[in-house]
Amino acid sequence: MNVVSMKALNYINGEWVGEEHDRLEVFNPASGEIVGTCPKVGRVETQLAVDSAYTAFSEWSSLSVYERVSYLKKWHQLILQNKEELATIITLEMGKTLKEARGEVDYAASYIEWFAEEGKRIYGEIIPSHNKEKRMQVWKKPVGVVAAITPWNFPAAMLTRKMGPALAAGCTIVVKPSSDTPLTAIKLIEYCHEAGFPKGVVNIVTGSSAIIGDELTKNEKVRKITFTGSTEVGKKLMEQAAHQMKRLSLELGGHAPIIVLDDANIDKAVQATMASKFRNAGQTCICGNRIYVQSGIYDEFVERFSKEVQKLKVGNGLDATTDIGPLINSAAVQKVNEHVEDAVSKGASIVTGGVYAYGKEDNFYLPTVLSNVKSDMLVMREETFGPVAPIQKITSDQEAIELANSSPYGLAAYVFTESMSRGTKIIEKLDFGIVGWNDGAPSAAQAPFGGMKESGIGREGGHQGIEDFLETQYVSIAL
Ligand code: NAP
Repeated sequence: MNVVSMKALNYINGEWVGEEHDRLEVFNPASGEIVGTCPKVGRVETQLAVDSAYTAFSEWSSLSVYERVSYLKKWHQLILQNKEELATIITLEMGKTLKEARGEVDYAASYIEWFAEEGKRIYGEIIPSHNKEKRMQVWKKPVGVVAAITPWNFPAAMLTRKMGPALAAGCTIVVKPSSDTPLTAIKLIEYCHEAGFPKGVVNIVTGSSAIIGDELTKNEKVRKITFTGSTEVGKKLMEQAAHQMKRLSLELGGHAPIIVLDDANIDKAVQATMASKFRNAGQTCICGNRIYVQSGIYDEFVERFSKEVQKLKVGNGLDATTDIGPLINSAAVQKVNEHVEDAVSKGASIVTGGVYAYGKEDNFYLPTVLSNVKSDMLVMREETFGPVAPIQKITSDQEAIELANSSPYGLAAYVFTESMSRGTKIIEKLDFGIVGWNDGAPSAAQAPFGGMKESGIGREGGHQGIEDFLETQYVSIAL
């Protein structure tokens, strides 16, 4: 597919714009080739996009939710009809395997379907009054213009997880995707255009994140920022948004512990850990980062897990036999290598992998297992965001809880035990927004997704996911 020829423009007020601007080049991380380009716009265009969303808000929010949902359903259908096209763009600009990219398209579409339905269940409340001459009600209203800033690792799903609830709630939106993967986002907006959303309801701008982010947080017409990305940038946006008390949802970084206890079903634990750790080449916010295995099964787990890891084939995501694609860029590969070198220098052993797959010039790193790992190693403290599985030996449930919670992050955690009692007691003590119990893939549109501590604020997905796009208005009526 010739993606370069795709209409990679910006979309403001129902028009494709930005032809005259400098271009942002988008690279295929598997080959280094340019996949396509899109405009590099700045403050003025961002203001225009916000203005158009602001103007469109009045009419869009006045439609019945059934009318709004009809657009979402058309958009949902178009995404699924064009699954192969969208999946190919994801693989080309992000690197994940085509199989995973197809999965991401389904996952992305599921959020639109879920929130199209959930929009119909935005209920208010009637509060029993203390005064027979008064009626007390709670009304729900869309917050207004929303600015959505999204990362590169799930370029489709992180967008629909925000756009679905925002649009169903009656908000209008300006999207700013990652500069690494803007083409997927622009393609999704093309489907919005085809679905016939009224002009100004959805807008997209691409370019310098600092300038666009600054405008989105300073512009008084933007009432809410919804961001998925690193904790570092999340904190910056929180500071910027504080000046106007903008509503904020932050889906940030993670450092997920995987706890495997000695009564675990080892087959299940190995398979689920493989799924959690190596999906997207280890570049997911909820992927297992640090694996704690109880001493009684430590050696067996390391051996069986490593055998599975050795079967993974590294290569271009377009190749049907590939299990692990490239990392997003050379800086990402360098970080992974630094984490491995740091661990080895502090006494860890490389069981398998531990090197660049094809040489330092490429973005591929071999899936790696480290044993004899200790808590002071970088891999056990910072997001590695790559295919490295460090395994530390633990002795007790209490130690597992303490080590798991010893991180500033609190996004996802995994526990493997066949004991209802141990699992319940441990999970009750874990400070994480998402827990997979004998499950390495807990995320689903109908479930709340989000973190505690420095992993963020708010939840996406589930019935909770639409709340963040609604204001609560209490109305007291004197009869
Ligand atoms: P990132 O560097 O924080 O970038 C995320 C987005 O923010 C991009 O669109 C980026 O634009 C933009 N951005 C960067 N600096 C900005 C600024 N000063 N003002 C406004 N926007 C700015 O994160 P990433 O590397 O793309 O994504 C990986 C991170 O996302 C990881 O930490 C991962 O854990 C996290 N993540 C979290 C979740 C979750 O649900 N909790 C899901 C997926 C990923 P440019 O690309 O143009 O710079």
